[in-house]
Amino acid sequence: MKPLLLFFLLVSFLNASHVEDFRWKSNETYLMFLQRLGLPQKDLYYNLDKEDQKMTEEIRSGVNYQIVLDDKNPKQIEQILIPMSDELQIHIYKDKNGKYRFETIPIIQSKETKAFTLRIDHSPYYDIVKKTGSKKLATIFMQAYKHSLDFKKGVRKGDRLAMLYEQKYRLSHPFSMPILKASVIELGKKKHFLYLGDDERYYDERGKQVEGFLLRRPIRGARITSRFTRKRWHPVLHKYRAHLGVDFGARSGTPIHAAGSGRIVFAGYTRGYGNLIKIRHQDGYLTLYAHQKKFRRGIRRGKYVKKGQVIGYVGSTGLSTGPHLHFGLYKNGRAINPLRVVQVTVKQLRGKKLKAFKRLKKNYDESLLLHLQNNTPYIKEPKFQRLCYCNNPTAKESEDESRND
Ligand SMILES: [Zn+2]
Repeated sequence: MKPLLLFFLLVSFLNASHVEDFRWKSNETYLMFLQRLGLPQKDLYYNLDKEDQKMTEEIRSGVNYQIVLDDKNPKQIEQILIPMSDELQIHIYKDKNGKYRFETIPIIQSKETKAFTLRIDHSPYYDIVKKTGSKKLATIFMQAYKHSLDFKKGVRKGDRLAMLYEQKYRLSHPFSMPILKASVIELGKKKHFLYLGDDERYYDERGKQVEGFLLRRPIRGARITSRFTRKRWHPVLHKYRAHLGVDFGARSGTPIHAAGSGRIVFAGYTRGYGNLIKIRHQDGYLTLYAHQKKFRRGIRRGKYVKKGQVIGYVGSTGLSTGPHLHFGLYKNGRAINPLRVVQVTVKQLRGKKLKAFKRLKKNYDESLLLHLQNNTPYIKEPKFQRLCYCNNPTAKESEDESRND
């Protein structure tokens, strides 16, 4: 993250400009954003290729983005950086001729594995929030244990827990949702462990999957025409690309099924994804179905759908080159590979996979038990601040009440 900061500082020094942090407003589209800032929609959207245009629909509300402003003329925008995923960001900048340009560049980020233990006085959720100030940490803990333990019955005052998790940083601030890698909770004398497998699902001590949320394929008998990638360098176009979903090629009109039960949180048209449905499921999961020809009758926002229910039909609406379903899966706002999660039954690891799991488990166990023994305290993250990396020595720093994201 340091080089980026240096880069900004250098720019600031040369052009007398400064960086400001903002939070992406919910319900503001990228086009509305350009309009609000008086930036040219033609250069920064309509003249882009389809893939770049589609990417602008991946900006999440609440994400922190940065604007570099000219000190002499604070309305003059020099650069903008907007993260679209954990790995790629949109970079808008003024070239030598003063013309605004659009590119996607990797996010310079770092990861740290962190750990802490705590004594439960009230409930795991309440005490994690109280101790860490982070609802995110409490949420990932509760989501992981939801299907294997009932905290309402089993927890007594004085029970302890330990969490091992990964935190990403961008521009030296916590970024994206933390990922729970392994954890243990003592209920009375019994310890209950959980481990994140390399398929991004949680397993108990015996290698049995504990999550209750299972997805089915949203379409029958379709072939995969494009796979999931978070960040890929395109050697011909000389650009970074991301494909935050899976494309299934199918005949126009082929029924699309809800991959899991849940509530429809979006059913409408967007320029990039065409006719689009988003369904919110349990445990922080969200699925997305794009380019539909039409929705099934009665399918609308707010409606609850069951797993397997037909919600719409394959089409080629929006920025699409032929009939296909673009299927996206997100957990806590972060895109994940749907093909790694789609399955029909709860898994029990066996054979080679079980052996690999046991090795992973051994490392985590050692670490967790050590943290329990040492009573490792939680160390607070720096709060997200509205920093002003200005040349002006009197520049002030004001705190942003927003949660880091
Ligand atoms: Zn796609």
